[in-house]
Amino acid sequence: MKLRVRLSMYFLLVICVVAGSSLIFIQHTTENLFRSFIFSGDSEKAKIYATILADYYAENKGWQDLQSFLSEIPQIAFSGIDRRIHGGQGTLRISGYPEKTISALLSDRIAVADKNGVIVADTAAKILHTVHPASHLKYGIPIFANSEHVGTVLVGSMIDSSITGINERFLSSIVTSLIWGVLISAGLALFLGLIFSAQVTKPIVSLTGAVHHVAEGDLSIVVNAEGNDEIADLAKSFNRMIEELKRLENARKQIIADSAHELRTPVTLIQGTIEGMIDGVFPIDIPTLKSVHEETVRLSRLIDMLRELEIIESGKLVLSLETINVMDILHKAEALFASSAKEKDIALSVDPPDAPPLIKADYLRLSEVIYNLISNSIKYTPSGGRVRLRTKNDEKRAVTRIYVEDSGPGIPAEERERIFERFYRIDKSRSPDRGGRGLGLAIAREIVKAHGGNIAVTDSELGGAAFIIEMKAAS
Ligand code: ADP
Repeated sequence: MKLRVRLSMYFLLVICVVAGSSLIFIQHTTENLFRSFIFSGDSEKAKIYATILADYYAENKGWQDLQSFLSEIPQIAFSGIDRRIHGGQGTLRISGYPEKTISALLSDRIAVADKNGVIVADTAAKILHTVHPASHLKYGIPIFANSEHVGTVLVGSMIDSSITGINERFLSSIVTSLIWGVLISAGLALFLGLIFSAQVTKPIVSLTGAVHHVAEGDLSIVVNAEGNDEIADLAKSFNRMIEELKRLENARKQIIADSAHELRTPVTLIQGTIEGMIDGVFPIDIPTLKSVHEETVRLSRLIDMLRELEIIESGKLVLSLETINVMDILHKAEALFASSAKEKDIALSVDPPDAPPLIKADYLRLSEVIYNLISNSIKYTPSGGRVRLRTKNDEKRAVTRIYVEDSGPGIPAEERERIFERFYRIDKSRSPDRGGRGLGLAIAREIVKAHGGNIAVTDSELGGAAFIIEMKAAS
């Protein structure tokens, strides 16, 4: 079912529930108010009847013939009116309506109970001679003759609480108006709801269209992300996703281009040398073969590094994490690089730590990263320089930092992010001879990231670069 239709159905449901419950509530309240209004009118009348009936009781010494006296009250009132208008005594002259109708206009239903609760008169003659319950009689007005409680009078709604006649018609006309009011406002609300739901679903429809475009490989699409609501957030995320996809697509193209370019150089060299040997330009001797062999080794290393990078980046790298003391790696590295440092007359040293730098890491992978940094430092630091290894525990942030610092040329501020990119070398003209292809730091960053750590470079107090690996401390 389309979202727009579903939203409209929800609107309708909400409208029905709200309209239905308010209708019931308003009807109930109106009826109660109306009842109490009628009751208060009847009770005022009953007070007047109570004084008339008290006189009647005192005069007759009892309630005998009360039924016929009460039935005559409209007749008495009617003749009184007739006499007042026409002055006549005999035949009634008010015409046009039957006498019964005019009597009904002047009459209220009156019931009188004696002091024992027995109904002694009822103008409707429905409950005559029955015993009226005390619980109901308490709503009536007591009749006192010579200070003696002689009975109770009940008028209209005090006898029968059901709303009848003109009152019923009045109440039902109010209810009908209410139903119409509710129906009209519900219709209006539904109409507006349909318009609003169309507004709400419009951006979703355009987002769906955009998703179809992306599925077909079109990354040029941008959706409207104006506003502050959730749908605008979704549109913004969608646009960000497209940007990221574009970036990844470009990066992929770049990797292919860079890899082809980097592989081209050694392959051309090998090819050229072998062709030269075939044509007799180069001698087929051990030194020439050695240089060809060197190129194949370099080529093979490059392919291995590309493969490793691919494995790490695609998340296929499996780390075997254990608690390790970073000092173990640093001391081992010191021993491993001692001869190459000595060869270049570089002082390689390890600072003792303040506290054992314990971290959770893959020993071999982390060693690979640290060796790479040390090898770079030795490679780029001129003779007579220094390379220093140290660690620092940051207890507040629960991390351990590993520093590889040197007194070499350092990394200019604007290059510090880029040197971690694949194939990036600061000075391409001098770097290839030193065996670098700009992949070492890219691999190092991916390994550190896979550990949940971070790697960055800054200036060292030794004058060169300071590479800092930040790893979560072992808990
Ligand atoms: P490479 O194999 O070329 O050394 P890396 O990814 O390890 O590749 O390093 C990228 C570039 O960063 C290097 O080409 C070099 O220009 C620069 N670099 C790395 N380490 C240092 C360092 N300790 N001092 C100066 N420059 C460095």
